[in-house]
Amino acid sequence: MLTKTKIYLSSPHMGGTEQKFVADAFDTNWIAPLGPHVDGFENDLRRYLGNDKHVAVLSSGTAAIHLALQLLNVSNGDEVLCQSFTFSASANPILYQGATPVFIDSEPDTWNMSPELLEIAIKDRIEKHKKPKAIIAVHLYGMPYKANEINVIARKYEIPVIEDSAEALGSTYFNQNCATLSDIGILSFNGNKIITTSGGGALIANTQSLKEKAVFLSTQARDNAPHYEHSSIGYNYRMSNVLAGIGRGQMEVIDDRVNARRQNFEFYKKNLSQFNSIEFLQEPQGFVSNRWITCIKTDSFETREQIRLTLSEDDIESRPLWKPMHMQPIFKDCLHFTNGISEDLFDKGLCLPSGSNLSQDDLDRILNNILKTPNL
Ligand SMILES: *Cc1c(COP(=O)(O)O)cnc(C)c1O
Repeated sequence: MLTKTKIYLSSPHMGGTEQKFVADAFDTNWIAPLGPHVDGFENDLRRYLGNDKHVAVLSSGTAAIHLALQLLNVSNGDEVLCQSFTFSASANPILYQGATPVFIDSEPDTWNMSPELLEIAIKDRIEKHKKPKAIIAVHLYGMPYKANEINVIARKYEIPVIEDSAEALGSTYFNQNCATLSDIGILSFNGNKIITTSGGGALIANTQSLKEKAVFLSTQARDNAPHYEHSSIGYNYRMSNVLAGIGRGQMEVIDDRVNARRQNFEFYKKNLSQFNSIEFLQEPQGFVSNRWITCIKTDSFETREQIRLTLSEDDIESRPLWKPMHMQPIFKDCLHFTNGISEDLFDKGLCLPSGSNLSQDDLDRILNNILKTPNL
């Protein structure tokens, strides 16, 4: 009997040279959260991202957001403005700092933070003597947010921006790489992301001294002394040299990974855009998405569920779009500035399998299942 294998939403895709770097780490006994691959991976990323940035590789994207908040002196009682339509890891580090998130809804062109609602929220908080300490904007599913508009508002009120690029390595905004468009960028190399180190992240800083401060905090904040002296709270957030080796191998194939994901999107769009019940997110002029995940917006919750359940019966993973943070039980008491857009996306949207390792047979199998949906 022919058994079909499960198709995942986004699974790791090794390029082939990763094990050579890992073997080198073993051969040289650099089995530690420092070593030549840590430096090498940082240099690879620095070269790739451009814009004269400084990169610190860390244990996760969540750790990078946490350190970014520390570097911006966000602390107990502060408010931080955060995109509501995102994964919870964008917002959880605000709570780690004892600060309070205020959630901002999306605009329709990119599904990311609405500049209009951002400014309304800032004015409201300033009026109440609660000027926000930082803004966390997210390039969700790889689509760049409206960085120029957000930056103009952020500068006007002098509030720094943390750019959550966990899903957007390889996306560009008017020819600049995502993760380099703001005060501090963050990346993730979790197993489901466009490239992976199994788990990992990076903080992208504008200056060498900010990078050094991030590295200092990520390695237990040891002051300069022969014994262990601590005058600030430290974290164990540095990336392992073994995992950085995987990252170096993955950086050799990043362009192929972006192309493959973009081709998945084109395949779905070509074969599904004739249905009025399915909409795709278009790239505005100057925006290039890595299409980390191909998302569709259907005409109703029922259509969305029909597609999801049909796929699931054939062992194909798909998933509703992110449930907005302002609807999450953990954040239910948080202030939010909303317009219904993220709630509508959560109601009708679906993430389709989007791995760079999907074969044409996989894509055809997914498509044939979607075409079986009665509501289309
Ligand atoms: C994956 C992800 C993170 C967290 O990154 P980890 O490396 O998994 O900690 C943060 N924000 C977004 C939008 C993500 O998708």
